[in-house]
Amino acid sequence: MIAYGDFHVHTPYCPHGSNDQWEHYILNAIKLGLSEISFTEHAPLPMSFHDPVPNQDSAMAWSDLDMYLKKGEQLKLQYKDDIKINIGFEVDYIDGYQVDIQSFLDQYGSQIDDSILSVHMLRTKDNNYVCLDYSATEFGKIIRQFQSIEKVYQHYYQTIISSIEADLGVYKPQRIGHLTLIEKFIGQYPISFSNQVLDETLDKIKEKKYSLDLNTAGLYKPDCLSIYPKLEVAHKAKAMGIRLLPGSDSHESTTIGRGFDQISELIKL
Ligand SMILES: [Zn+2]
Ligand SMILES: [Zn+2]
Repeated sequence: MIAYGDFHVHTPYCPHGSNDQWEHYILNAIKLGLSEISFTEHAPLPMSFHDPVPNQDSAMAWSDLDMYLKKGEQLKLQYKDDIKINIGFEVDYIDGYQVDIQSFLDQYGSQIDDSILSVHMLRTKDNNYVCLDYSATEFGKIIRQFQSIEKVYQHYYQTIISSIEADLGVYKPQRIGHLTLIEKFIGQYPISFSNQVLDETLDKIKEKKYSLDLNTAGLYKPDCLSIYPKLEVAHKAKAMGIRLLPGSDSHESTTIGRGFDQISELIKL
């Protein structure tokens, strides 16, 4: 296996994931010969933010935060001779909540080893929020709300660009999560979208010296069947010298390192 680590993994603290224990993720990573694993749980959402998904289970609970970090520290020590464990967060970039996000990072940033900045939530014209990757049915509603699929894509990439440009303090994550997540349901909602805004996005990532989450989860989504960012964008990023870090985005322990055989060219150092 060429991959040296799986840098995007969830834990039992994810309310929409499985109850698989941390140790199972770690043992599977060791079995695969990985030298590193990053636990990047969905950071708690800003307290005044209303999670738009039906079960309000997009992220870990604030009340679990200390236990999450403590458990991570314990596992780091326990497995230190077998694998390097990084503890961190997948932080939601939510337009309008930058102050809250920075204050979270200011408070917890010094305690973590790794982090990802992702966009799952889009702000609507009437200042509500929608979750873009929840389900195909919800995505259909979002298209109607924004009036066209092109407008949804445009708005998504604008939000990504503002996430790259945002000042979120010294602990701002330096890696952008699943860049083309907006294509999760493209099989049901096809679109021919100009790559211009994606090129602009890559330029900004390069300028900031950020890296990209090379996320294999989309390969297993029936309406997507592609990595994030999609292959052509990933190759372009690599050619530009943007670092790509493989992540399975596992929400269960058996999917550690899943699909990494299909991205081996891209993750060769
Ligand atoms: Zn998740
Ligand atoms: Zn995510």
